[in-house]
Amino acid sequence: MASRMKSIFSVDVEDWFHILDLPSTPGISEWGSLPSRVEANFMKLLDIFSEHGAVTTCFFLGWVAERYPHLVREALARGHEIASHGYAHELVYEVGEERFLRDVTRAKKLIEDIAGCEVLGYRASGFSITGDVPWFFDQLARAGYRYDSSVFPAMRGHGGMKGVNLGPYPVSNRAGRIVEFPITVARVLGKTLCFFGGGYLRLFPYPVIRAMAQRVLGEGRPVIFYIHPREIDPSHPRLPMGIMRRFKSYVNLGATERKIRRILDEFELTTFRAFLEDSTSLRKDS
Ligand SMILES: [Zn+2]
Repeated sequence: MASRMKSIFSVDVEDWFHILDLPSTPGISEWGSLPSRVEANFMKLLDIFSEHGAVTTCFFLGWVAERYPHLVREALARGHEIASHGYAHELVYEVGEERFLRDVTRAKKLIEDIAGCEVLGYRASGFSITGDVPWFFDQLARAGYRYDSSVFPAMRGHGGMKGVNLGPYPVSNRAGRIVEFPITVARVLGKTLCFFGGGYLRLFPYPVIRAMAQRVLGEGRPVIFYIHPREIDPSHPRLPMGIMRRFKSYVNLGATERKIRRILDEFELTTFRAFLEDSTSLRKDS
């Protein structure tokens, strides 16, 4: 009998002001002077994970790991996988090839030095992978990563690619081999929609999220859930923004912790690293 398909719960470990591409988005030189919430929120998340006996993958922003290295060590000590969200939270399609390579190399080295173990995985800010960055997988392999979870196989504000695989798939290139875990979408009425992270997870009622997740698992794909520490902190400061972005960024914050707890209870979870180790087809070296 085939083993049951597991799901993956992931956290992009960043602060409340790391919202992209707004006139009010603060630059990196201002971050240190803003009132940080990531430490308290991430510790609260770790406690929630422990209460439910859940393992997750934590994509640390390098800037956050550098300032709060104990968060990396605490997550590792509780059995979570440590991965990289890059260093400076820039949109991949805006930075160019060389600056991208520098950013992901710096983040990997920094987080590995803190964690004392190898970092295999990467997630881009804003899932900002498009057809305009054909060098993306090559540079990621060059920096020494083994998998990525940044491709968003539907249209969205940042990034988004149509017509790519919906389940995990290997990408071989000059510098090596990367396994891509696209953000999970479900097929609904001929469209692909995400229900499993960010504003989508907060917006849809839990029974809809569960039904869509079961549909995805039934198709033999893992569900990749993703959240940010600010999403369990309804009273975090707000960045000024237009009404549509405001809705998407802040809708239903008060209900998110409850949803997260139900997901942790009802889904069988693993990390990207363990998923790769368990999958002979994805693990196979070319
Ligand atoms: Zn981010």
